Amino acid sequence: MNTTAEIASTSFTSNDEQKTKVIRKEVQLASKEIRARFPFLKHQNAIGFFIFSFSIAMIIVSAVLYLQEKMPLLVLVLSVAFWTSLLHELEHDLIHFMYFKKNKFMHNLMMLGVWIFRPMTINPWFRRDIHFHHHRVSGTKTDVEERGLTNGEKWSFKRLITIADLLFGGILRAAIIRKDIIDAVKSGELTKEQALNFKKVKLYGMLPFTLALYFIWYFFLAHYFIVFIADIFQLNYQSSTFITNQMKWINPLVAILIIPNLFRMFCLHFITSNMHYYGDVESGNIMQQTQVLNKWYFIPFQIFCFNFGSTHAIHHFVVNETFYIRQFTATKAHKVMQEQGVRFNDLGTFARANRYYIHTINPA
Ligand SMILES: [Zn+2]
Ligand SMILES: [Zn+2]
Repeated sequence: MNTTAEIASTSFTSNDEQKTKVIRKEVQLASKEIRARFPFLKHQNAIGFFIFSFSIAMIIVSAVLYLQEKMPLLVLVLSVAFWTSLLHELEHDLIHFMYFKKNKFMHNLMMLGVWIFRPMTINPWFRRDIHFHHHRVSGTKTDVEERGLTNGEKWSFKRLITIADLLFGGILRAAIIRKDIIDAVKSGELTKEQALNFKKVKLYGMLPFTLALYFIWYFFLAHYFIVFIADIFQLNYQSSTFITNQMKWINPLVAILIIPNLFRMFCLHFITSNMHYYGDVESGNIMQQTQVLNKWYFIPFQIFCFNFGSTHAIHHFVVNETFYIRQFTATKAHKVMQEQGVRFNDLGTFARANRYYIHTINPA
């Protein structure tokens, strides 16, 4: 959409602020129209809870069919990945207090549910803080939420294998992110309080489910790797009875929850880490924070992240709207975003380590 010259000339001026206002107004208007046309949309809590219950029911049905050998593994993985992608959208909406804002019990019940069925992700109550911070400083060094998903890194084997694996990826990039946070506190860019919150997320955000599930996953990989090697070299290897007994519950857990979630997270993180710009985004300039990825070749990823590449940029402009309404307003939203100069399908981001400008390719 934008030529190189246009890309280089864009800057955060009152012009971009004006463009942001125009987009916001149009998107809010489109939401209003949809809500007026379909009055049942006002039952937001009920709709959210219905999507929540139905998705969980479908995950349980898929698991039961698989355990009864009526559903093949591949169908199970695709089915659970799809239904958990709805739970991811619900989690994000819940983080923004979109459902049961005044009913703490129901709100927290849903928060717990979307975590248990997506157990490879960090605790949503902890994620809330880093997600709000993401909205404040998207694309800058302290945007730990997106950086944790490889946003801003040069393409490499490391980026590929850590895109879905939050624990391994987190360990590999912990030192550099820590240094950037300390620098940001020193320069006054980040408050000490916020830095301490990040520390809390790092220490406790994966307890207990997430950490346990990652260890089970690594144990599973190590076990089958040993069996595989022993087989190739025809070594007489026999797993102990203890391990054989553990594999009886680990195998179905890996099939039902771990692999589908890692696959879903790969699709989501691939899309999100490339649709957010990083490193040279002017703080607070929404026009530069994201692009829209909605070409047909992204469809295999979009199926398992509920069209995230197409609709997340809209969320940066209008935060307080549910994910399903965004699907309805996307056409109108995209039209005004395109008119105002938001980028669409800027594949150059893959070569620029997600930098917004061409001349700042050299990432740290
Ligand atoms: Zn958000
Ligand atoms: Zn975002």
